[in-house]
Amino acid sequence: MNYRHSFHAGNSADVVKHCLLIALVGALQEKPSALTLIDTHAGCGLYDLSGDEARRTGEANAGVLRAFADASPLLDDYRAAVRAVNDAAEPQLYPGSPHILAQLLREQDGLILNEKHPEDARFLRGAMRGMPAAIHERDAYELWLALLPTRSPRGVVLVDPPYEQTDERARITATLAAAHRKWAHGVTVIWYPLKDRSVHEDWKRKLARLGIPKFLSVEHWLYDADQPGIYNGAGLFIINPPYAFTQALPPRLEALRAALAPEGHRGEITADWVSK
Ligand code: SAM
Repeated sequence: MNYRHSFHAGNSADVVKHCLLIALVGALQEKPSALTLIDTHAGCGLYDLSGDEARRTGEANAGVLRAFADASPLLDDYRAAVRAVNDAAEPQLYPGSPHILAQLLREQDGLILNEKHPEDARFLRGAMRGMPAAIHERDAYELWLALLPTRSPRGVVLVDPPYEQTDERARITATLAAAHRKWAHGVTVIWYPLKDRSVHEDWKRKLARLGIPKFLSVEHWLYDADQPGIYNGAGLFIINPPYAFTQALPPRLEALRAALAPEGHRGEITADWVSK
C-alpha cells in the first residue's frame, strides 16, 4: 500500500467524484428515511494543499482551483463543501470524501469510514474528531460485504481504491456481485481511473455480465485524443442511482466538463448504462 492521496487531493477526479457524491446524497435525502453512508477507502479526510506532497504534483491547480475559478451554479454545492473547511477565499485545505459525507449528514443518517493504512487512519481520526462517524481500519472488501445490508433502510457505499494492485478490478467485480446478492436495492458508487480504453472496455464487459440492473457509468475523458498509458481521466460506476439524480445529471456533467477542460482540449463527460 504505497498510494498516498495527499499527492492527488483536489485533482480533477476528486472534483467530479465529490461533486457527484454531493448531488447523489442530496437526491436520496429528498426522502426522509435514514441513510447509512459507508466509505470503504476513506483516506485521510482532510488535506493540506500547501503541503509538500500536494505542491509536488500541483494536481489541485487542474481540479479544485479550476472549479473555484468557474461560476456555474451547478458547482455551488461542491464549492460550499470545500469552503466549509477553509477560512480564506482560496482553498488551502481540501476535504476528502469522509469530511464531505459528514457535512451532508442529517440527524437520522449514519457515517462509517474505513482506511487500512495505519498512518492515514491516524490522520483520518484526527480530521474527523468531534464528527459523528464510526472509523474502521479493515480491508475494504471484507468490510464492504460485512456491513451489508445496512442497518438503516437505505444506504450508499463509496468504493474508492487506488488501483495499485493488479487484481483491484477483479476484487471489485467479485465483491460487487456478492454485495448485490445481499443488498440488491442499495446504492453503490465505485470510482475508477481511465488510462487504457481497452482495459476499461474489457472491465465494463465483465461488469455487464453480472446482470446488475440500474448500473450507470460516468466517464470523464480529459483530452480530445487518448494518450496511451497515461492518466486520461476518471469516472464512477453508480448502481441504483435515484431518478432525481440521473434526471439532473446532463447539465451537471456539462458544467464539470467545462470547468475542468485542460488548456486546448474540450474533453468529454458521458453517462451510459452498463446494464439497465
Ligand atoms: N475516498 C477518498 C476521498 O475521496 O477523499 C480517497 C481515498 S484514496 C483514493 C484510497 C485510499 O484507500 C488510500 O488512503 C489507501 O490507503 C486506502 N486503501 C488501499 N487499499 C485498501 C484496502 N484494501 N482497504 C482499505 N483501504 C485501502
